[in-house]
Amino acid sequence: MWKFEGQEHIYKLIQNSMVKTRINHAYLLLGPEHIGKTTLSLEITKFLHCIDEIKPCQNCDQCVRINETNHPDIVLVGNTISEIREIQEKVSLSPFLSNSKTFIIHNGESLTIEASNALLKILEEPPNNVTFIISATDEQYLPSTIASRCQKLELYPLSTQRIYDYLIQHFDISNDEAKEEAKLISKLSKGRLGWAITAYTDTNFLQTRNHDISLFDQIINGDMSERFLLSQQLSNNFNKNKDNIYTTLETWLSYLRDIMLLQTNSHELIINIDYEKKLIELGNKFELSTIIESIKVIDKASKNLNKNGNPRITLDNLLMRFP
Ligand SMILES: [Zn+2]
Repeated sequence: MWKFEGQEHIYKLIQNSMVKTRINHAYLLLGPEHIGKTTLSLEITKFLHCIDEIKPCQNCDQCVRINETNHPDIVLVGNTISEIREIQEKVSLSPFLSNSKTFIIHNGESLTIEASNALLKILEEPPNNVTFIISATDEQYLPSTIASRCQKLELYPLSTQRIYDYLIQHFDISNDEAKEEAKLISKLSKGRLGWAITAYTDTNFLQTRNHDISLFDQIINGDMSERFLLSQQLSNNFNKNKDNIYTTLETWLSYLRDIMLLQTNSHELIINIDYEKKLIELGNKFELSTIIESIKVIDKASKNLNKNGNPRITLDNLLMRFP
């Protein structure tokens, strides 16, 4: 039994290919961050190695070892050239406990050009009993020569209702307050189950998100000097912990998108449901074109920070151009 919620189209495809004894040499799992690519790559690995009739059984020695990350024929590979070169050495060795070997590569988009070239060489002439499972957020971040040698498996966002039902069941939620929280988180998750589980179990999640929304209000109500001060604080925080700013920017983006949705009468699609009144007020205050412009500016700032742009200049520029 697959220990995974959703993405049934992927299990079916892999099960069918097993029936036709046409297991591919390489799979490419594609989907946004926190949608479940890491978990699914392990489930596929169990499926490929399981010795039971109904795969993956979760109980045989192969499945148990994979669960415990203690299987000598399953290799989790990093993205550097030296780690990819290690595959070259290991790929021709016979498996120890299984009939085949599986190499798993997460964050395929971070492979350097050198590492991609080395990987390509291996994929061009793969040994018979070896499977590669590579995951990436988007196919375009990988060299097309690699992507074209893999069977692409795309993970789709789950419905809000399915995520809500999963949280209720998985965390055995029964009281109304926790149900409301699960409802909000399933909306905010945008269909990414891994994200929803992390957010629900992180006791600080909603507090941080509410703080990010209050920052948004401070910026739009603040004059230039207040905005400069906030930019300084944010860039100092960025130097301490890079991930937080991306979460903040994602919250601001979702907030602005909600304002846009309300302005275009798509009320049922908003995700920050607990701020609806505030969002309506802001929608009355700003033109649609201003909101769209702000969304573009945040998106650009996020990309710029990702490309190691100067955080202070990027954030100054962002906050100055806020409505
Ligand atoms: Zn098994």
